[in-house]
Amino acid sequence: MFGPVLLAASRSDGIRRLVSTAPVTRPVVNRFVAGEQLDPCLQAVRSLTGRGLQVTLDHLGEDTTDRTEALRNRDAYLALAQALAEEGLGTRAEMSVKLSAFGQALPGGHDVALANARPVVEAAAEAGTTVTLDMEAHHTVDSTLAVLAELRTGHPQTGAVLQSCLFRTEEDAVALSGEGSRVRLVKGAYNEPAAVAHQRKADVDRAYVRCLKILMSGKGYPMVGSHDPRMVAIAQELARRLGRKHDEFEFQMLYGIRDAEQQRLAAEGHRVRVYVPYGTDWYAYFMRRLAERPANLGFFLRSLATR
Ligand code: FAD
Repeated sequence: MFGPVLLAASRSDGIRRLVSTAPVTRPVVNRFVAGEQLDPCLQAVRSLTGRGLQVTLDHLGEDTTDRTEALRNRDAYLALAQALAEEGLGTRAEMSVKLSAFGQALPGGHDVALANARPVVEAAAEAGTTVTLDMEAHHTVDSTLAVLAELRTGHPQTGAVLQSCLFRTEEDAVALSGEGSRVRLVKGAYNEPAAVAHQRKADVDRAYVRCLKILMSGKGYPMVGSHDPRMVAIAQELARRLGRKHDEFEFQMLYGIRDAEQQRLAAEGHRVRVYVPYGTDWYAYFMRRLAERPANLGFFLRSLATR
C-alpha cells in the first residue's frame, strides 16, 4: 500500500529536501548506504571482501538534467576505478552505473550517456574489473540495452540488469543469454504502468522464475539479484539440475539487507556480491528501499518517534 506512495515521493524535490535535511534520517540511511565519501565506502568494502564477499560499487546519482553534473558523475566513477586499482580490489569489486546519472535523460542523452560510460568501462578494464549497467524506468530500457551492445563490442564483459516485472524481459533474457553475457536479474524497483509491467507481486515472481530458467540454461553468466529466499532456493536448484558450478553464476544482494543470508551463501561456497552504494545523492535510492518493504518504513518511523 505504501510502496507506490514512497516511489512517487522518491521523485519529489520537496520531500527530498525534507527527508535529506532531517538529522534523524541519517542513522537509517547508514543502514543502506556505505557513506557519503569514497573512503568510508572503501572501509565497508574491505570489511565485506575480508569476509569472503564480492562487491559492486554504486556512486549514487540518477536522473541528471545537467551536462556538468553528468561529467561529475563520470569523473566520480573514474576516481573509483583508480581507487579499486590502487587497493588491488579489481578481482573482487566491480562497478554499477546508472546511465541516467551520465546524462541519458538530456537532449541527445543516449549519445551523451554512451560517451560518458565508455571511459568508465575502459578505466574499469584497466583496473582489472568491469561495469554492470543498472536498469531504470521502463522507457530507458531500449537505450540502456543499445548502450550495452555498443560497450560490449570493445568490452564484452560489460553487464546489464533485467527486471522481471516488465513484460518484455523474457525476450530480453533470451537475447542476452549467449556466451560472455553477464545479466543481473532483479524484480524491478520502479513504479511501472500496467501497459508494460506485471502489477501483482505473484506475477512478478513467476516471471522472475521464467527469466531465471532462461538465463541459467543459457551460455552467459547469470547474477541472481534478489533477497527472496524462494528465488535463492530456485536458483540453487536450477544450477544443480543444469550442472552449473558455483563459479558459473552468482548471488547479489544489497548492502545492509539480509547480511546473514549473504554470509551463509558464501560459506556454502557460492559467489555472493554485495551492491554497495555511496555518495551524497542517496535520497531516491533510500526511498526505493523503504518502498520495497513496510518493515523498513517502520524502522524509519520508529527512529523518528524515539528522538
Ligand atoms: P522481494 O519479493 O521484494 O522480497 C523478498 C524478501 O527479501 C522479503 O520478504 C525480505 O525478507 C527481503 N527484502 C527484500 N527487500 C528488502 C529490503 N529493502 N529490506 C529488507 N529486506 C528486504 N532494481 C531495478 O529496478 N534496477 C536495478 O538495476 C536493480 N539493481 C539491483 C541490484 C541488486 C544487487 C539487488 C539485490 C536489487 C536490485 N534492484 C534493482 C532492486 C530489485 O528490483 C528489487 O526491488 C529488490 O531487490 C527487492 O526484491 P527482492 O527480489 O529482493 O524480493
